[in-house]
Amino acid sequence: MREYDLFIDGEFVPSESGETIDAQDPSTGETVATVANGTPADMDRAIAAARKAFDEGPWPGMDPKDRAKVMLDVWERLAEKAGEIGELETADAGHTIRNSSLFSVPYSNEYWRYLAEAGGKLNYTEPVPKYVFPTEAWEFVERVPFGVCGQIIPWNFPYMMAIWKIAPAIATGNTVVLKPALETPVTAMALAEVIAESDIPPGVVNVVPGDGPTSGEALVSDPRVDKVAFTGSTEVGRRIMQLASSTIKYCTLELGGKGPNILLDDADLEIAVPGSMWAMYLHSGQICHAGTRLLVPASLYDEVIARVVELAEGFKVGPAADFESDLGPVINQTQLDTIERYVEIGQQEGAKLLTGGERMTEGELSKGFFFQPTVFGDVTNDMKIAQEEIFGPVLTVIRYEDADEAVRIANDSIYGLSAGVWSRDTSRALATARRLRAGTVWINDWHLVSPAAPFGGFGQSGVGREHGEWGLKNYLDVRYVHVSQTTSKDQKFWFQVLGL
Ligand code: NAP
Ligand code: MG
Repeated sequence: MREYDLFIDGEFVPSESGETIDAQDPSTGETVATVANGTPADMDRAIAAARKAFDEGPWPGMDPKDRAKVMLDVWERLAEKAGEIGELETADAGHTIRNSSLFSVPYSNEYWRYLAEAGGKLNYTEPVPKYVFPTEAWEFVERVPFGVCGQIIPWNFPYMMAIWKIAPAIATGNTVVLKPALETPVTAMALAEVIAESDIPPGVVNVVPGDGPTSGEALVSDPRVDKVAFTGSTEVGRRIMQLASSTIKYCTLELGGKGPNILLDDADLEIAVPGSMWAMYLHSGQICHAGTRLLVPASLYDEVIARVVELAEGFKVGPAADFESDLGPVINQTQLDTIERYVEIGQQEGAKLLTGGERMTEGELSKGFFFQPTVFGDVTNDMKIAQEEIFGPVLTVIRYEDADEAVRIANDSIYGLSAGVWSRDTSRALATARRLRAGTVWINDWHLVSPAAPFGGFGQSGVGREHGEWGLKNYLDVRYVHVSQTTSKDQKFWFQVLGL
């Protein structure tokens, strides 16, 4: 059995309370590892270490290229350990082994590599366009790290989220305290183990799993923390923003979504319908940017519904570690209860349950948290199941008459994280895509994002962007420097203003 302590100031230390939690495998209910449960006092220690590493340590002042080099050594180790980390992600977070070995873990490592290199190459100094008033000066801006970043992540893609947070922050010279979700702390600790063996100085990265409402709030509220980066639900995001306001912390928030997925009437259904299943059912729908609202033209509705139901019923749901499983479990009992509640709500609202809708408890599935791939037809966009995030394998299918209506429905949401359009005619798809209020829009694709591209949401899906130059710059404050080019008294107009 693996045991992980908290990672603070370059060392693994027990929680001050001595408390641990059992990380559970959602496929089997078995314990994957025991992990120290960080208290607010542990957060205090971690913040102090990150503060010291920023204020006194070499990391913020290092040549960005040297930071990149150190980070690339870490990446090599992560790449070597990808198989092992993938197995841990499968055990702790229920990623099917096909997902963790082909997608979630290797793809996350790519983010580490790309962001390390991009942080090394970024322009940290930029000239200000020449502006001569009132007197000549040379002006430039310097981009400087914020300082200590408090980072909080959810349970759905724990390894990816840990990398998405730590890599851009430290590549730009910040130090971090990361709080993984208590539900899935294991792969963030595996990452911490690799960091512990590297040349990243102690205190630059601290990883403290702990309870959100206590230890998470302690992190966000602490005046020694300069920036907060949060990924999770919109509800908790609101609370984070409130807490961060007490000391005017810079905040980036990656929150919920209810992705509208528009099939135009000329879509290639051989690709678009399976593509819509990929958009919806990857990781059993527990993805913020999943395509959860499928918008289908009335003329194709019956044909598309028949195909969607056939594909949903064809999924093999099973233990995540089984290579045969297309879909694995959902994360826990609470999530099962939430999904079940929404299935009831959908039926009460008058949507048509076309397939699924129940827990799966036969045979080996009885030990885990499995739910049937579920499809609701005859959904209207005002229903709760079309407006609220379910975070499970529940697709809502909505009919529309023309493209204007599809766009109206797509944008009628508090969220604006992701959207997609399927069409054989790219210019037509583009014209529709440009009207969608979403941070990411896919055309004839889904889920593929890039470490070079900005990621984030419109509306209540969040504030700010992660990744690419946009994301790296969100970890850098801007210092404007004005160097006067005038030397004599009579050239200094402020002598006159104050009568000096
Ligand atoms: P959540 O309940 O909002 O929790 C996210 C994290 O916040 C966890 O680490 C949680 O800690 C912590 N937390 C909870 N209450 C807190 C508080 N009062 N103060 C500080 N921290 C607090 O979300 P989740 O259920 O884990 O994850 C699912 C949600 O994440 C969905 O809404 C999904 O859309 C969103 N998500 C968004 C993105 C994106 O990039 N936009 C990506 C993935 C997921 P504990 O749970 O450990 O107590
Ligand atoms: Mg777990």
